[in-house]
Amino acid sequence: MAKLEIENNFTPIVHDDKYILEVNKLKKYFPIKGGLLQSTVGHVRAVDGITFNIERGTTMGLVGESGCGKSTAGRTILRLLEKTGGQVLFNGQEVHDLSKKELKKLRTKMQIIFQDPYSSLSPRLPIHEIIGEAVREHNIVPSNEYNDYIDQIMRNCGLQPYHKDRYPHEFSGGQRQRICIARALALNPEFVVCDEPVSALDVSIQAQIINLLKDLQEQYNLTYLFISHDLSVVEHISDTIGVMYLGDLVEYGKKEDIFAEPLHPYTKALFSAIPIPDPTVKMNRVILEGSIPSPANPPKGCKFHTRCQYCKKGLCDEVKPEMKDLGNGHHVVCHLYNDK
Ligand code: SF4
Repeated sequence: MAKLEIENNFTPIVHDDKYILEVNKLKKYFPIKGGLLQSTVGHVRAVDGITFNIERGTTMGLVGESGCGKSTAGRTILRLLEKTGGQVLFNGQEVHDLSKKELKKLRTKMQIIFQDPYSSLSPRLPIHEIIGEAVREHNIVPSNEYNDYIDQIMRNCGLQPYHKDRYPHEFSGGQRQRICIARALALNPEFVVCDEPVSALDVSIQAQIINLLKDLQEQYNLTYLFISHDLSVVEHISDTIGVMYLGDLVEYGKKEDIFAEPLHPYTKALFSAIPIPDPTVKMNRVILEGSIPSPANPPKGCKFHTRCQYCKKGLCDEVKPEMKDLGNGHHVVCHLYNDK
């Protein structure tokens, strides 16, 4: 059987102090096992060479359809998953080169808030223990200040300290997400991956959680990677936006530029689905034909060419487009802009 080589060509980047996080050609492939010997017969290319940077104290929204690889990207950045290729620099340090001891130290600085506050909290622990477990583990505060510290974090996240002996099932969905935020914040992080943090909540509660995240960002100078499929939520919270399709980052730049003038045909289609709250304005919805191809067997050339109305035969279906900066940090990966 032919050996399944994984291409890992990239030019290493030099750290720029402006950025807290620099992601360069990051790849995460999952092996597909098959046959009698359960050998690797292919790979699911969940994240296929994405590149972007995030400035300290800002929020980057990462959007795309379900299964496009955004959550896998977030987890690989945090090294909850090992990378297949590329670079992840956090404050200039390659996260995937750290020893276990160094990684444990870094864990406090990089946190994650999950989508489902129901399953991400242990039902057997009172919330002061859920929030404080890692605080003790990492010696975040001296033991005589521990109780006051937990109370303060709870207050900052809109929770009442006198509820700290209660269990997760005694709280509403919104309050449970506040507990998850408090748990992440208690470790004094610099960078937080928010993985669909409001998708499981009612719309009115979503706004409260988003506003809480924004307030905490201001207070603690936090940097967020905000993963969501909800463009209106992303518009509200983000400074920059990245759009993913089938493991690729197809467009990224400042929020204002991307919302004012989306360039990639996929971004245009995605953004055309945002409802306009004005009955007199007609929506020009772009309906994409066909379904998303399999990330185990992505199309050659531009991965979007099977669904793109602008596909140029002989180019788009053969040659993979490169990321291009069209000015003001507005990056796009599409042959339509080769001459710009
Ligand atoms: Fe469409 Fe070609 Fe651009 Fe891909 S490279 S998005 S197929 S125009």
